[in-house]
Amino acid sequence: MLPRLTVTLMCAAASIHTSWAAEPMAQPAQQITLAGTAPSVPAPAEFFTGKVRIDPVYAANNDINASGSLVTFEPGARSNWHTHPKGQYLVVTSGVGLVQEWGRPTQVIRPGDVVWCPPGVKHWHGAGPNTAMTHMAVTGTLAGQNVHWLEKVGDEQYLAP
Ligand code: MN
Repeated sequence: MLPRLTVTLMCAAASIHTSWAAEPMAQPAQQITLAGTAPSVPAPAEFFTGKVRIDPVYAANNDINASGSLVTFEPGARSNWHTHPKGQYLVVTSGVGLVQEWGRPTQVIRPGDVVWCPPGVKHWHGAGPNTAMTHMAVTGTLAGQNVHWLEKVGDEQYLAP
């Protein structure tokens, strides 16, 4: 008896609130991107020093306007100096690395550390001289751009305290 009553009530509700009933059907379905379906890519030598691998995690979309990537730096590897038009979070997932903001000392970053880089702040990030480092990078996008690349980080800059 109860299932029949439930169906009757649902039909009544649907006929009265047609827009309410239609909305769930219009929602896009969840998507699961299976592990192992996004190939690893070497980071471009033009913008990085040393061996760096990028594993794409997710692209920006109209609802969350930031992309996610896992970036792995071998010992001594680092990005060029750069800025992000909408900022960037770095979440260190393994190893020990370095991050530096222009005009400030280099700082050591470790697994669990979260770095917020505000829009337009010049910085670089990378591995330690003797230790690899992987971080998740969550990078906001403005008009299709999420980074503005600048000059390389020379050895003297990289090794400076
Ligand atoms: Mn950055």
